[in-house]
Amino acid sequence: MRIPVIAGNWKMNKTISEALDLVNDLKSRLTNVDDVTIIVCPTFLCIKSVADALGNSNIHVGAQNMFWETSGAYTAEVSGEMLLEAGAEYVIIGHSERRQYFGETNETVNKKVKKALALGLKPIVCVGEMLEDREAGNTEKVVDDHLTNGLAGVSADEMKNVIVAYEPVWAIGTGKTATPEQAQEVHAFIRNRIAELWNEETAEAVVIQYGGSMKPGNVKELLAQKDIDGGLIGGAALKADSFEELAKFNK
Ligand code: PEP
Repeated sequence: MRIPVIAGNWKMNKTISEALDLVNDLKSRLTNVDDVTIIVCPTFLCIKSVADALGNSNIHVGAQNMFWETSGAYTAEVSGEMLLEAGAEYVIIGHSERRQYFGETNETVNKKVKKALALGLKPIVCVGEMLEDREAGNTEKVVDDHLTNGLAGVSADEMKNVIVAYEPVWAIGTGKTATPEQAQEVHAFIRNRIAELWNEETAEAVVIQYGGSMKPGNVKELLAQKDIDGGLIGGAALKADSFEELAKFNK
């Protein structure tokens, strides 16, 4: 049985005080949710304060990126060791905005994923096609490339700590959501590929989130699909009332 995972990707939003206001509000709204894993991913700068404020509540903390080296002359980078000590348990890796604007590739994704797993940080690995890929009929090819190369060399055992987020790039921040059927089709493809690349047991265990304009109005329908196990949410994660509704999608 896969436990649904609802994660908020705050992107470059919220100062420390704004982040604290939001998590303190969420903490009281979500105290009774025990059947969903809830994660918030603030900026690096807010991770420690947010993790301290959440303490050992049912809301977990993730980062939005990391570097694969431990320390050294890598100006402006942040290591997994630093994230762990600050209180992060999860880390988003390979978000399409990182690929589009900051030169992230399958190769860098793979290095980051391996380092995160070695440290015990759980990676949320993003895969997904651009609009032109979908229109050219290349959705599965692109998703397969992200999955196979981004996760190359990861063992079946390690895969149980990996979350895959299917995020069609054309649906991120655009208000356009993939229909539940469109999303389910790709999620089923991803689960089948995980079975082929690792094994059936691993494929059954891995959580596959959908991301792309998920909101209170469409969460139920999306999560009712057999292979959609949660959401990675941008815009609707920035307000306590909408994130509460998303985390309580099954109430
Ligand atoms: C995201 O940032 O991963 C995302 C899905 O954003 P939004 O929900 O705003 O489309």
